Amino acid sequence: MIKTEPTFRESVDLMFNRAAALMDMPPGLEEKIRVCNATYTVRFGVRLRGGLQTFTGYRSVHSEHMEPVKGGIRYAISVNQDEVEALSALMTYKCALVEAPFGGAKGGLCIDPLQYDEYELEQITRRFAYELAKRDLIDPAQNVPAPDMGTGEREMAWIADQYARMNTTDINAKACVTGKPLNAGGIAGRVEATGRGVQYALREFFRHPEDKAKAGLSGDLEGKRVIVQGLGNVGYHAAKFLQEEDGAIITGIIERDGALFNPDGLDVEAVRAWLIRHGGVCGYPDAGHATDSGSVLEEDCDILIPAALEGVINLENAARIKAPLIIEAANGPITAGADDILRERGTVIIPDMYANAGGVTVSYFEWVKNLSHIRFGRMQRRQEEARHQLVVNELERLSSALGNSWTLDPRFKEKYLRGADELELVRSGLDDTMRIAYQSMREVWHDRDDVADLRTSAYIVSIGKVAASYRAKGL
Ligand code: NAD
Repeated sequence: MIKTEPTFRESVDLMFNRAAALMDMPPGLEEKIRVCNATYTVRFGVRLRGGLQTFTGYRSVHSEHMEPVKGGIRYAISVNQDEVEALSALMTYKCALVEAPFGGAKGGLCIDPLQYDEYELEQITRRFAYELAKRDLIDPAQNVPAPDMGTGEREMAWIADQYARMNTTDINAKACVTGKPLNAGGIAGRVEATGRGVQYALREFFRHPEDKAKAGLSGDLEGKRVIVQGLGNVGYHAAKFLQEEDGAIITGIIERDGALFNPDGLDVEAVRAWLIRHGGVCGYPDAGHATDSGSVLEEDCDILIPAALEGVINLENAARIKAPLIIEAANGPITAGADDILRERGTVIIPDMYANAGGVTVSYFEWVKNLSHIRFGRMQRRQEEARHQLVVNELERLSSALGNSWTLDPRFKEKYLRGADELELVRSGLDDTMRIAYQSMREVWHDRDDVADLRTSAYIVSIGKVAASYRAKGL
């Protein structure tokens, strides 16, 4: 029998079902958690280039067991209802797994953003935001979007401003969307957050010898050969941090127009600069080129990071993927059928709902910052420095009173005396979140004989948390 590929939403549901079958849940509750609560489709016109152009957008709310619901807005020509619903379901499970107190949602607009200039994109974004906000599908207490593929800080700033214009007396207006620029109510470290989360996830994985052994890997990230697909927000930051801070070697970078490879390592900053300047990686010097970019996914490496779009590892190519460890920085890059093949072969997959949760985690911090109307660290930083100064002064006083000649290393003093700023606090909160969530998944992975992979473990942990919320509501 020829196996056919399920849709993205069916793929997510199949993975959900696999985990739910191992849980003791009343069938009614299982169904309630799996289904998507509502999807709103909007078609709106914007006057552009002397004519009226009609756009189609979606906002899907998967689960309101906690509110507000949260999830990014994607701009891509391929956006469709099935995709938005799959992504909103993943948001529910992701938020539960990392204990971000939100239900799951997602939005999308069918548009190729590269075909419009900045002014036009602003008109389109504002109109889309207006359509959503007037139905409470953007609201600090009910529905809080964020960036996703094809959108970033700029679009989030327009959305925040549009909401504020429509709700002039809402003191919490800034909390209606996250991923804003710092000067428009954003938080330090949000742009890098998803890629940073991928780095923290890998570091945590490499802290556990049994887990590494399952992938046939050992040691730490130093010298590990990494292939990244998609050098956008997530892929670029993940690759950059792994290269610069952990000593990993980025041997392959796959983009829309082709792929680069170099066994000695590609300079991530230089490739990114080339990509921004030329709109693709084609022509980049110091690397081998492949026009059939898919083939580079199948190259030998230690860690494969799909960070572009869904369904790239599927029934067609799964059996040829050589990486022993795949970390899903993108949402849904591995189809359910490919997941079966890879699991059978013993490939370790760090699943999307965990791997890319850094974005929503820092979005959660941003939302809290907006609601509390104060930057993190503003009250404590100098007080912390003053207390550390007291300790240093006392140590130096004792040293001189005892006639000792030792002094504190100036580098230690500088580091110890400096109070944490917002960026450090955000990174600390993100690191803590990624470690704890990983440990909750691996506990299930190692403790249960009927669970053989991290994805099923992740679903079991998150479905359990969502079920507990529903039970607490008396459902
Ligand atoms: P982005 O638009 O910044 O980057 C996507 C990159 O992938 C671009 O460089 C694009 O050229 C490249 N790309 C597109 N199609 C490709 C193809 N067929 N082959 C190779 N490269 C291709 O998007 P992003 O924000 O980095 O999101 C990437 C993935 O991460 C998506 O699945 C998204 O849902 C997920 N994600 C993003 C965030 C976030 O905070 N931005 C958070 C969680 C998950």
